[in-house]
Amino acid sequence: MIKLQQIRKSYGNLEVLKGIDLSVERGKIVSIIGPSGSGKSTLLRSINMLEAISGGEIWLDGQQVNRPLKGRAFEKHINQIRQQMGMVFQQFNLFPHLTALQNITIGPIRLKGLSKKEAEDRGKMLLAKVGLSDKGNVFPARLSGGQKQRVAIARALAMQPKVMLFDEATSALDPELVDEVNLVMKQLASEHMTMLIVTHEMRFAAEVSDHVMFMDAGVVVEQGPPEEIFVTPREDRTKSFLRKHL
Ligand code: ATP
Ligand code: MG
Repeated sequence: MIKLQQIRKSYGNLEVLKGIDLSVERGKIVSIIGPSGSGKSTLLRSINMLEAISGGEIWLDGQQVNRPLKGRAFEKHINQIRQQMGMVFQQFNLFPHLTALQNITIGPIRLKGLSKKEAEDRGKMLLAKVGLSDKGNVFPARLSGGQKQRVAIARALAMQPKVMLFDEATSALDPELVDEVNLVMKQLASEHMTMLIVTHEMRFAAEVSDHVMFMDAGVVVEQGPPEEIFVTPREDRTKSFLRKHL
């Protein structure tokens, strides 16, 4: 589904990603963990073309994501790639002037050509799925952080992406609101949505992941099934990170 080969990324002289390899198969859940500044967000942003990589290849379902296109061709390509990936950020990034339901329907109407009715039917179904059936007409300012994040997830799902990317989706939330968002993510996992999750919640990662990748300073230090990474890590850097975060 997603294949990363030797991904490199520099900002000026600062090399942030130093040759990252990763394969995510359809229906699998991969968590990326690691210290602050290790390059986790940069990696997700590169996959979603929010950053241009400096080297390597990114593949989505046999299609190369990073292609040397310019102008209109590039715009078309980027839109087409982004429609296949749903991204959820730490900050919810909802449109403040649109209701919860409108936040969810605007993408499918504008980008997928759905009629208002079709988009609203799908939007209501998704609101129900994230437990917010009664909030369709509410503006983001009147939603809690956990509710906003659930709308953001529903908005991403409305585009029927092949894969969902989560970058610390719960770290801006008050602790008592974390579970309601994690629950939605777990439900997606149980439905075999392909997911790439950056998280600092080790217990959550251990629970939902098929595969865990530990990054430090732009390299993959160790990766494997959660039982291995969390229970019997091999590398000293992994051990020391987990001692601080488990
Ligand atoms: P955190 O856990 O704190 O979110 P992270 O693993 O997501 O950290 P990144 O945000 O990917 O780390 O940042 C990796 C490195 O790249 C850091 O040293 C950061 O300062 C640097 N960096 C990120 N974005 C930029 C940018 N736009 N310009 C310059 N440097 C950047
Ligand atoms: Mg980050």
